[in-house]
Amino acid sequence: MSLTPATPVLQTEGLGRRFGGLHAVSNVSFNVPQGQTLGVIGPNGAGKSTFINLVTGHLKPTSGRVLIDGRDLTGARPWVIAHAGVARTFQIVKPFRGMTVRDNVAVGILYGPHGTRQMSRARTDAEEVLGEVGIAHLAERAPGELSVADARRLEFAKALALRPRLLLLDEVMAGLRSSEIEPSLELIRKLKARGITIIVVEHVMRAILAISDHVLVLHEGKVLTSGEPREVLSDPRVVEAYLGHRYAQRRGGGA
Ligand code: ADP
Ligand code: MG
Repeated sequence: MSLTPATPVLQTEGLGRRFGGLHAVSNVSFNVPQGQTLGVIGPNGAGKSTFINLVTGHLKPTSGRVLIDGRDLTGARPWVIAHAGVARTFQIVKPFRGMTVRDNVAVGILYGPHGTRQMSRARTDAEEVLGEVGIAHLAERAPGELSVADARRLEFAKALALRPRLLLLDEVMAGLRSSEIEPSLELIRKLKARGITIIVVEHVMRAILAISDHVLVLHEGKVLTSGEPREVLSDPRVVEAYLGHRYAQRRGGGA
């Protein structure tokens, strides 16, 4: 072990975003070390997507800083941050509807940090990425023809095409059947094994437990707690803030 710890891939310092009088994210200070998978949970409206948007430059912070590999990229444009090795998926998928699945990925490659300037080469690379996420057979389709699960895979492929060092996933398992969750987990494990640092926003708790090294809980824009996944999920404050009503509903309806 080195005495000087490596610079975290992501550092946020007092990060905040107001929308008028609403503090969507406030004072979030957090580090994500290289190669770690961070699970981010919290009830709807807790500020999870806003947090991702602040890290990726899709929203500008109203306070605090964002550092990628120690470099201050606070308020930088999304493509500048993408070129620093950061990719993300969107909670609401938004493919280019007039293009095939293959070209949706190829466009990302053309404009990405490691991109070729040749469309034919980008298409070949796109096919490789589609293969990685398991939808190579859908390359010729229009995005609108895909199932929910396959549309999420396309979203994943668009992010992976940028060959990121830091990948942020915003509810990529939402709306999936239970049998469709395992392949997503497998894919995330594979990326993790390659050393990619991953931030997973997810409501599927078994997924959070299966892949997170560390869990951060947001509540009303603030960090409620963070730590080892099982400990965090059994923290009474977390159960009350987030899981409480769901558990209560399930217990009320079941046992
Ligand atoms: P989560 O992803 O945890 O469900 P969000 O980050 O989407 O939560 O939203 C956090 C809060 O910020 C919510 O109250 C939401 O309504 C508000 N919010 C998010 N984006 C905007 C926006 N562009 N303009 C105004 N309010 C917003
Ligand atoms: Mg969200």
